[in-house]
Amino acid sequence: MRRKLTNGHAFVALGANLPSDLGNPEDTLRRAMAALIPLSKHLPVISGIYESEPKDCPPGSPLYLNAVVALLPLAGEEPLSFLHKLQHIENVYGRIRTGLVNEARTLDLDLLAFGDAVSNTTELTIPHPRAHERRFVLQPWMEIAGADWLLAGRTLAQWLMDCQDPPLGRLPD
Ligand code: ADP
Ligand code: MG
Repeated sequence: MRRKLTNGHAFVALGANLPSDLGNPEDTLRRAMAALIPLSKHLPVISGIYESEPKDCPPGSPLYLNAVVALLPLAGEEPLSFLHKLQHIENVYGRIRTGLVNEARTLDLDLLAFGDAVSNTTELTIPHPRAHERRFVLQPWMEIAGADWLLAGRTLAQWLMDCQDPPLGRLPD
């Protein structure tokens, strides 16, 4: 049975478009999903892996693989402490920041939402300010949370209907 997601859940968007020490982007995403398990009170709920054209990226950027994971943060976890754990996982997987906007990366972990928490600092903006305009976030998110899940006052299905991004391929599970 599908686990019912609650407004206590946190959602993480995963992206990769460069091989890491651990293998190709698909290997990296699957390993990163496993690395999220200790951050959750129950087994995280994971979407399939989707393939997307690079969006607003430097020319020649390789295709992206994307997924979304839902988890239930541990007692005492705060949005910022959680973000720092995500950044630690990114670093372990060889993420190098050059400062280029939307540079290719071995692994990107973005915090889409942390329960009902709201944060508007540069270090952490949640709900994620660009989630609702990205098919590669909306589609895997809807796969695990359902079409009626609310984001910024509209359902994921409504955001997807207005999204101009091209359709995504989905890798076999
Ligand atoms: P992007 O994911 O936007 O391509 P980065 O992964 O390099 O870029 O993140 C840039 C900065 O964004 C990080 O230093 C982080 O502190 C900040 N940030 C702000 N809000 C969030 C969020 N919701 N999830 C992840 N990082 C965030
Ligand atoms: Mg990021």
